[in-house]
Amino acid sequence: MTCSTSPSTPASGDGRGAVSLGLPAVPAPGTSAPAAAAGAVPPPAPGDDPRLVDRFGRVATDLRISLIDKCNLRCTYCMPADGLAWLPAERLLSGEEIRRLVRIAVDTHGVRELRLTGGEPLVRKDLVEIIAGVRADHPDLPISMTTNGVGLAAKARALADAGLSRINVSLDTIHAESFAKLTRRNFFHKVLEGIEAADAAGLRPIKINAVLLRGVNDTEAADLLAWSLERGFELRFIEQMPLDADHGWTRTNMVTAEDTRELLRAHYDLSVSPDARDGAPAERYVVRALPGADGAPGAVLGTVGIIASVTEPFCADCRRTRITAEGRIMSCLFSREETDLTALLRSGASDAQIADRWRAAMWAKPRAHGMDHTGLGDQDFVQPDRSMSAIGG
Ligand code: SAM
Ligand code: SF4
Repeated sequence: MTCSTSPSTPASGDGRGAVSLGLPAVPAPGTSAPAAAAGAVPPPAPGDDPRLVDRFGRVATDLRISLIDKCNLRCTYCMPADGLAWLPAERLLSGEEIRRLVRIAVDTHGVRELRLTGGEPLVRKDLVEIIAGVRADHPDLPISMTTNGVGLAAKARALADAGLSRINVSLDTIHAESFAKLTRRNFFHKVLEGIEAADAAGLRPIKINAVLLRGVNDTEAADLLAWSLERGFELRFIEQMPLDADHGWTRTNMVTAEDTRELLRAHYDLSVSPDARDGAPAERYVVRALPGADGAPGAVLGTVGIIASVTEPFCADCRRTRITAEGRIMSCLFSREETDLTALLRSGASDAQIADRWRAAMWAKPRAHGMDHTGLGDQDFVQPDRSMSAIGG
């Protein structure tokens, strides 16, 4: 099933949470089509540009594939306590299908990096074989994986040997009690062991992903930063997005990037990193010890990233294309439209036919936050049916 964009409703106009994304009104390279207005039916993808361009001139070069929807944690900002109805095995993309899609993405569309995610990718039994297969096809492709780290201790070495380049581990707190509250599981020490094993296997740089929840782990943000800095890990705080299966997110209760900076500045000096952001979702900050009594700047301790998807969105520079575990293209995390590739893959379609479908889906990529206007605080923002685990974060 290929979906077209659904009509957008007009912006609420009350300015709540509205942001200016600074998106250029430029046609995609090789076309003369004007940038689509809200609600317009997208024109077909341009005929002569093989890349994944969209109506706003963005080019997707970063592919995220969800390997499985299932997970062994129940993070409150993602999953319901009882889990979700998992996809039956035959509906998941097979290892060979994943390998083929990566080949098309890299060889035809010019994709330059791959991130494996889920659900929990470590739950997928053929994970090592999938990575080895992709690596055999693309010796130089950066392949990273986002994982909760449960079970990583036993697999880190095999993943590195198979060709995984590096890893992001999600860890919201270094306090076992808060971990149990957030994930509804007592696996804190397993995650720590997993991170240690990944470090020993050379899956560096190790990035730690953390979501702060008000009243649960927000006051522990500086402890997590201290822990990460001591070990040379790159910590990134991600603003909580309305992608929880329980639909509990509220704009007023979320911990914003500004709140996070304030929490950290009580303990550290932060200054925006001079390094170019280059499409990265995280704004990076150089972390220094607070100035001494003499006012002299403190020593540089490392960096920290803040991903302000809600309050300071980076949609204007988005370079991502996503495939769900059952083979659907999602051009945006917040898309309500999905484009199925599995039927094509399983009905003898050629690589060129699959590539065309992929280009068309990305051409229709919404301007921001799943809409042709912004933002997540608008009254007409509709939370997608899928939770983060079912999309692939
Ligand atoms: N299970 C793996 C993990 O947790 O790392 C991979 C999948 S998980 C969906 C990917 C990332 O999405 C994690 O870093 C998680 O913290 C983040 N995430 C999940 N739900 C989120 C939400 N509602 N808002 C912001 N980030 C979220
Ligand atoms: Fe599982 Fe990752 Fe979602 Fe937590 S964030 S429930 S670990 S998929």
